[in-house]
Parts: sequence; C-alpha cells; structure tokens
Amino acid sequence: MEIERARREYEELRGRNLKLDLTRGKPSSAQLDLSAELLRLPGDDYTAADGTDTRNYGGLQGLPELRSLFSEALQVPPGQLIVGGNSSLAVMHDSIVYCLLGVPVGGERRWTDEERVAFLCPVPGYDRHFALCERFGIELIPVPMTPAGPDMDEVERLAAADPGIKGIWCVPKYSNPDGVSYSAETVARLASMPTAAPDFRIFWDNAYAVHHLTDEPVEIADVLALAAEAGNPDRVFVFGSTSKVTLAGSGVSFFGSSPANVAWFLGFLSKGTIGADKVNQLRHVRFLRDERGLREHMRKHAELIRPKFEAVDRILGKELGGTGLASWSSPAGGYFITFEVPAGCAKEVVRKAAEAGIALTPAGATHPYGDDPADRTIRIAPTFPELDELEVAISGLATCVRLVGAERGLG
Ligand code: PMP
Repeated sequence: MEIERARREYEELRGRNLKLDLTRGKPSSAQLDLSAELLRLPGDDYTAADGTDTRNYGGLQGLPELRSLFSEALQVPPGQLIVGGNSSLAVMHDSIVYCLLGVPVGGERRWTDEERVAFLCPVPGYDRHFALCERFGIELIPVPMTPAGPDMDEVERLAAADPGIKGIWCVPKYSNPDGVSYSAETVARLASMPTAAPDFRIFWDNAYAVHHLTDEPVEIADVLALAAEAGNPDRVFVFGSTSKVTLAGSGVSFFGSSPANVAWFLGFLSKGTIGADKVNQLRHVRFLRDERGLREHMRKHAELIRPKFEAVDRILGKELGGTGLASWSSPAGGYFITFEVPAGCAKEVVRKAAEAGIALTPAGATHPYGDDPADRTIRIAPTFPELDELEVAISGLATCVRLVGAERGLG
C-alpha cells in the first residue's frame, strides 16, 4: 500500500480520539454477571457437608466438597488439593517463597542458599510469571514454544546439564498468550526427563483448564500421575483458580501436588493462617454444584466470548490477510490471541496504537525481562471490551500495522 494512504488512514484513526483497552485478560461485566447468584450464597445455611460451621476458624486445606468438584478439571486427587484465597498467582508467589526460604522436598538446601536459581520460560509466555521470578532474583532462561508445547529437546538439554535450573513455567492448556495446548508426548517428557537439580519443579499453571471456546474441549495428559509413574512424584506443583470461572477478584484458587509436597506446603500455610475463607468456598460449591454444573457454567462464558475471538480473526483476516504483514493464533480456548508482526515492528505498532488511543500490552511483555529479541510478538486480550469497541480497536490495530509496514517498505 502506498504510504500516503496508510498515513491518511492512521490520521483519521487518531482523529477519532479513541480510548480502548486490549491490555489485560479480564472477564467482561456480562461474564461477571453470570455469577451474580454467588453473592447471594450461601444464604442462611453455613454448614459444610461434614457439619463444619464455615463461619468459624479451621479447615486449612479447604472444604473437601470443593476439592472434589475441581479434582477432575485440575487432574489432582481431592486429598492432594489445597484451596487457596482469591488468587492463584498469590499461591505461585508463596510457592516460590517457600522454596527460597524452606528446603523443597528432595532438595539439599534452601534456594536462597544456592549459588544460582534459574527457571526455564517458554516464550511467548505470561508476563506475571516472569515478573515474579525477577522480583526474587531468579534468572529467566527463554525456551521457544512449538505447536505442541515448549521445545522439549531444548528443555531436556538444559534441565539435564545445569543444577542451577530449578524449574519451568508451564501453562499447559490454552496457553497464555498463544493458546497452545501441550501434547501427550510433551507432558510425558516433562514428567520423566532427567534433571540436574534434585528439587526441580514444574510450575503447572492450569489457569485455563475448563475455558474452552469450542464444543471439542482439549484434554491434556495427567502430569502428576505421569511424574509419579516416572519416579518423580514431587516434581510438579499444579495451580488453578476460579478467577475466570466465577468472579475474577473474589474466586478461589488451588494448589495440587504429591502428598509429600502438600504436607510441606500446609506446614508453611499453617503458620500464616488459622484457616481459609470457607464461606466463599461453600458459596462456590453451592453455586457450581458439581462437574456438570461447572461445565454448563463455562459454556455460558464461551457463548459470550467466542464472538469476540471470531471478530478478531475475521477483522484481521479481512484487513491484513495476504499482506504478509501479520499472522495470529486462533485459539480453541483461554483468553488470548498472539499477534505476530514482521521482526523489529512490534514496539512501533504498539506505540502507534497507543497514540491512537488503543492500549495494548507492551511489546516484549511476552518474553523474560520484557525483551522480545525479534520485536515481533504482541498479545491481544479480547474478552473485556464490548464487541463493538473490540471491532474498532482491532481494525485500528490493523491500520497501525499497515502504516508501520508502509513506512518500512514491507508487505
Ligand atoms: N495464570 C495465568 C496463565 C493467567 O493468564 C492469569 C490471569 N491472566 C493468572 C494466572 C492469574 O490468576 P489468578 O487470578 O488466579 O491470580
């Protein structure tokens, strides 16, 4: 496209004084409304299945009926699940802190006493995982993602050779941000690979376990069972939450692992609290009821957000298809779309979009230290805006890409 036309389109876009936000994967208010009833529960009956008065202290591990309800979705036996507070990220944070300040099961010393602690980070990945490690001085080592999960040849090579590598971040289903789900082979290799560190941990953040966009839910292999079978029962920490099931700010979270790790985790937890918020746990049980209830509830979410994912795909296809200026993922679940522009262009596209009032996650956020060496990956979060706003924002994004492409003589 000639540059004058691209400039004209962009000036027109800027003239609209938009204020649109595609930065974070938040549920829309219509999605939150699906859980309106939650706030009227548990009503006058505060008693859990075993007769516990949920208003009182106690119940550190969480209500058994809630653990049973999420056992299948998270692929963790109920006895090996702990219910946490409103944020799984907080549980991941605490898991890191416990490893730093307490000797992990099977480890020789506290991670703070190690010369060096590093984590493998499949890229593109989730910026908050990376920021958490960075905050505590844990080194981040990028490994590329493939359509079947992290590049396992690379992961195996690094983990086997370097005792400083203590863990890997994994979002195994509908990954943030590229929507990839790990193949059975990838999961088996992660569970069984030799690691130089005896206390190597897989941080298995199954944030999108039940967040399907199609009628064919993706199933992933059971990493806890595979690790136990391979003789590495304590390798995996499983995380999950209802942030994008019920209320993003007032849900419940989960930690799942081997019996030894669960006892280890509870040993720390018991020093910090006399018990969990069981009223909120009971509320969740009464609202979701059972696995079928959970599935049906998630179907309602899908009905609200599928049109948004389809709109992004349709508009990008119409405006950028065949130009060679962009490619993007079409995920079968989760909350994000990865949008790739020609190398060296992502920062400039995000800058131009911001100038036109369209806020995108900073280019580079999908990579450790905020540094995407190719400067080409942008994360799109389509769930929060209303559909009409989303359409305007994506079309505006395409305008920015065309201008950057024209300015650089690409496409
Ligand atoms: N993990 C992943 C992969 C996520 O994408 C998000 C939210 N964007 C979270 C965790 C945050 O979860 P929570 O609300 O339970 O802290």
